[in-house]
Amino acid sequence: MNILVSGGAGYVGSHAARWLARAGHDVWIYDNLSQGHRGAAPPDRLIVAELEDRETLVRTMTEKRIDAVMHFAANALVGESVENPSKYYNNNIGGSIALLDAMRSAGVWRIVFSSTTATYGEPEQVPITEQEPQKPINPYGFTKLVIERALEDYARAYGFGYAALRYFNAAGASPDGDLGEDHTPESHLIPLVLQVALGQREAISIFGEDWPTPDGTCIRDYVHVDDLADAHLKALELLRPGEGLKLNLGTGRGYSVREVIDACRRASGHAIPAKSAPRRPGDPAELIADSSLAKQVLGWTPKYTDIDAIVETAWRWHKSHPRGYNDA
Ligand code: UDP
Repeated sequence: MNILVSGGAGYVGSHAARWLARAGHDVWIYDNLSQGHRGAAPPDRLIVAELEDRETLVRTMTEKRIDAVMHFAANALVGESVENPSKYYNNNIGGSIALLDAMRSAGVWRIVFSSTTATYGEPEQVPITEQEPQKPINPYGFTKLVIERALEDYARAYGFGYAALRYFNAAGASPDGDLGEDHTPESHLIPLVLQVALGQREAISIFGEDWPTPDGTCIRDYVHVDDLADAHLKALELLRPGEGLKLNLGTGRGYSVREVIDACRRASGHAIPAKSAPRRPGDPAELIADSSLAKQVLGWTPKYTDIDAIVETAWRWHKSHPRGYNDA
């Protein structure tokens, strides 16, 4: 298929774009580089433009004879979404709707959408199944939920076929060390801990040690980016007009903040000082996926189930790119 990957120069998008290309698809990356990196996309496949630029979108989809869209482009920081909701409503909702309408104009009906566990908010039951009520507790999660609902409506009214893939904590890097996680400013746990190992930060702050978990720190389900990429490829093959898939993507195994820091110590061989800090507003204590549905429907099995294996790939990337894509 000819596939347009919005946000394909970003963290998960770049891994997915490469995964699709390796599976034989013809991939075009559409990114405004506000957060994505030129170095994360093959130069002859990169289109630098805005999602709101409907004319460029429609022209690109028509000229490249696009069959399917993978939509990663979004702002994705919980804290920032609370401080600056306008950015999230405009980019995540406005940008996505512009993309969906451009697809209609160009006659493209297949879409795989990057959704999130943040659409569930504070879960009533862990592990979280797709039946968990979606009650987001921050603007980021809400904007993603709105697009899931828009996809339902566009499927019913216009025959879109979609998959909304709800990721848990995307982590790791391509094992060859070419692609990895590079956010400015960085706010995610694993890259921050590895920056301490590189001597770029003094210590890692642990946001709360009084959570109702075995070691008092928050538990998350870290899923490798290449496993996410693989799920996108598998979902693409199952899209049917007028139908939607909503699937959780995680490993089903949770690790605490302390366990992640220990894994980073093992991978890097550095002591990695840690210090106690207050809880971060909006953080649920524990998020673990029940991904049985994704396994059953997609025939997907995450290859990386162990935090050490995930962190090892992240460390390889950070060690070889201490300044991220500026080193590429
Ligand atoms: N975390 C932390 N210190 C940091 C950054 C994150 O203790 O400097 C914790 C955070 O509270 C959460 C977990 O690490 O429990 C994962 O956070 P991250 O921002 O990586 O992902 P999120 O779960 O917010 O999507």
